Formats: sequence, structure tokens, C-alpha cells
Amino acid sequence: MATRARGHSENVPGSFFVDDTCIDCDTCRQVAPLVFADAGDHSFVQLQPESDADVRLAARAVLCCPTNSIGSDRPAEVRAAASDFPVRIDVEVYACGFNAESSFGAHSYFVRRPEGNWLIDSPRWMPALATRFAELGGIANIFLTHRDDVADARRYADRFSATVIIHALDASAFPVAGRVLDGVDPQELAAGIVAIPTPGHTAGHCVLLVDDTYLFSGDHLWWSRPQGRLSASRSVCWHSWSEQCRSMRRLAERRFSWVLPGHGERMHLDDPQGEILALCARMTEGAASDKDAPSEH
Ligand code: SF4
Repeated sequence: MATRARGHSENVPGSFFVDDTCIDCDTCRQVAPLVFADAGDHSFVQLQPESDADVRLAARAVLCCPTNSIGSDRPAEVRAAASDFPVRIDVEVYACGFNAESSFGAHSYFVRRPEGNWLIDSPRWMPALATRFAELGGIANIFLTHRDDVADARRYADRFSATVIIHALDASAFPVAGRVLDGVDPQELAAGIVAIPTPGHTAGHCVLLVDDTYLFSGDHLWWSRPQGRLSASRSVCWHSWSEQCRSMRRLAERRFSWVLPGHGERMHLDDPQGEILALCARMTEGAASDKDAPSEH
């Protein structure tokens, strides 16, 4: 629980504050960018929300914060905002919120499908969120993009008897997976749902492409708010940068229009192929380097 006495000095006075337990995951700055800003290695409240809509977004940020580093004297508004999750992004694609500290605040997603719903990576365990998933039809499959963003997938899998899917080279993070992928060839997991191995960030990293539209990109690539473009970074590549470059070139052959990452911003793109080819060129030149890393890694 955030403590006002440990609040950062940059916070403007008012209802919301960020304390010194912030791990700089960037989530609050994405959820409520008017309210939260970047002080370099932590977030702070740059502007207290005034409108009901801005208070609601700040309250959502409180709930998304993986370390409970955001405090407020508006508990009723924060409690009310819990019912917003999962938050619809587009048609039947949702952001789960309730980011987990164990995944360094990575985003997770929920996709409704007639043949069974999907969870992509996992939020922290939250009974009210599980109830909401149940109301939306439950969870049939949990796709883990890579070993870092497992969070509380086990509890959601147990709650819904869901099949957990992960690549063999990252499977040590979830040894009881129901389906283990291998190799680097894309694999259709269900109608319109394709797992694409993208080794690089980790050896077993995969992205999930839904309906040639939604690319759940894990930590392979993301939208960089400061750069205003797609990005990947050598500084957060744990396995092999050269493999990540090759994976990116293969991915450039696919069609998609949304990038929905674990870390970094999600974005709808008008020219995804052009964006990703430009990223490939920067990666090859070595330009996609530390400065492109989202602060949350
Ligand atoms: S959401 Fe992330 S960046 Fe924001 S206060 Fe919490 S830990 Fe810090």
C-alpha cells in the first residue's frame, strides 16, 4: 500500500500520489497520461485529475500498478474502477489490467472467441477479475509469449481448466503446460489464431497473431511513445539479438494492424509492414539500441 510520507517530491499536491516503491514500469503513464509522468527512474503525479473521466483513469492506474505504489484518498472511486476490467480495446480484444510485479508490470490481454476465449500472458490473481472473465465466457486457453510474463497464469488456468501454451525453450517457466510448441515455424492453434516463434528476447519467445489483425507481441516489439515508432531493444534482449533480428524479418511478412505488447505501448498502425521493415533496418544498423528500450524493462 502506498504511503504518502514516502511520496516522491515531484508529486503535485492532491488526492493521488506515487511513493518510492515505484519500479518505473510505465503502466500508469499509459493508463492515465494526463496525470502521471516520468521523472527518469520513477513516475510522479504531474497533474491531479479533475474531471470524472480523468479521476476514473487515475483510479484504473491505481489498480494496474503492480507494486501498489500509487496512493489516493478516493477509495470509493478506486473500488468502482475495478469493474472496468478487462477494458475493451477493440471489438472482442481486452486489456486485463491488474499488472503483476512478477512480470515487471507486463500487460496481459483477453480475447473472446466463439470456440473458447484466450488469455495472452497473465495478470496478477484477482478474484473479481476472474469472476468477470467467467461472465465473459471463461478462459479456454492461456498463451504465454515467453518465460518472463507468466505471472499468475497457474491460478487462472486452474480456475478455468484452461490449456496453457508455451514454447519448449521457455517451458521451464511453466512446466505443466498443456501444449508445448517447438521450432520456428508458425503453428495454427485454432481458426484464425497463429503462434509465431520469435526467438531473440528469450530463446522460446513467441508472438500470437489473431485474425491477421491483432499481434500480441510480448517483449519482441512494442510502440515507443518517446520515439513515435515501433521499437525493439538490444538492452532488453536476454537471449540473442541476431536471432531477434531474424525473427523480426520473418514477422515483416505477416499482416496485422494492431501491436499489443507486454511492455511498451499498444498501437493501431496504418502501415505496419512499413513500420516493421523500418525497424528491421534500424536493428540491422544497430540503431535500435538502449535509447529505444521502454523504461519498464
Ligand atoms: S504503475 Fe509502474 S510506473 Fe506507475 S507507479 Fe506503479 S510501478 Fe510506478
